[in-house]
Amino acid sequence: MASDADRNLLLEWYRRVRRDLPWRRTCDPYRIWISEIMLQQTRVDQALPYYDRFTARFPDADSLARADLDDVLRLWEGLGYYSRARNMHKAAKQIVEVHNGRFPDTYDEVISLQGIGPYTAAAIMSIAFGEPWPVVDGNVIRVISRLYGIGEDVRLSLTQKEIARHATALLDRSSPGDFNQAVMELGATVCTPASPDCSSCPFQLRCHAHKNGATGKYPYKSPAKKRPHHQIAVGVVRDERGRLLIARRPDNAMLGGLWEFPGGKQEDGEALPDTVRRELREELGVEAGVDQMPFQSVRHAYSHFTITLHAFHATLEHGSAPPVAQNGEPIRWVAAEELVDYAFPKANRKITETLMSAEK
Ligand code: SF4
Repeated sequence: MASDADRNLLLEWYRRVRRDLPWRRTCDPYRIWISEIMLQQTRVDQALPYYDRFTARFPDADSLARADLDDVLRLWEGLGYYSRARNMHKAAKQIVEVHNGRFPDTYDEVISLQGIGPYTAAAIMSIAFGEPWPVVDGNVIRVISRLYGIGEDVRLSLTQKEIARHATALLDRSSPGDFNQAVMELGATVCTPASPDCSSCPFQLRCHAHKNGATGKYPYKSPAKKRPHHQIAVGVVRDERGRLLIARRPDNAMLGGLWEFPGGKQEDGEALPDTVRRELREELGVEAGVDQMPFQSVRHAYSHFTITLHAFHATLEHGSAPPVAQNGEPIRWVAAEELVDYAFPKANRKITETLMSAEK
């Protein structure tokens, strides 16, 4: 098991080499929360400019709670996993309404905020409040499975529980925030997935995987299922003034709150222009003429599936009813240069860029 000497070696290493990151210069739980949410599924270098812009615009829970969701999503655009931004917006309102604007300081209160799970709650409690809660993320799983030679499938909850037990035993209770960040930093910079730099690692003399020349064996992850691929067809509809029709996705849907060109998934045996016609009819109650060929096709990967998004020019048929979103969400007619003011999913954004450059 871990000794105080091991803990001290790791903390000394961390204090010597840690990267200077803006969220490490503060104990403000609000800012630590923002950074932890942004860093889920996102690299540090990618998150940094978003963190700076976000905290400059929304420096506290009160300003975030008062913001329009569209503005929050616009600042988040490009980071992906948009439910994170929607949940943060809701959590900021909880902080204002339930906690009078003060960020809560107990684990139970923190984890009851929208979008905060055990990992984020433990990170906030340890880093902002110095409470001894161990964190377990992908980096920690890799370090601990190698350190202790845990060879079971890390996709299994039983294995994750075993790793959490080791993380709890390893935690330095006098500096839990630094210690948690030290293990994560070790995983991110030294104990990397493909080629760990064991000669620079404070655990090199006691690490099971290193001593056995078996770093490639840990962590063991059973193969992921193949992601399905979907063909999506959307219509870029213009009115007589050349404005473009966009629709907002429902809050409770994937990419909820973002704007898009109306359309949807191709059905079996359906030609793509017919997909656009059907979707426009179902979503907006309109009849439209649709080009035979898309003017742009974009591939995009989400965590559980991939898509090819085909964009078609479309025109409302003479005598068609005016478009009305059948799901009650807002729709807008906007000039091409105004598309930049709306938050779009990444694949749609490539289409807006094409449309905007065509107008220049
Ligand atoms: Fe990872 Fe190597 Fe350190 Fe073991 S010795 S924890 S494998 S970097």
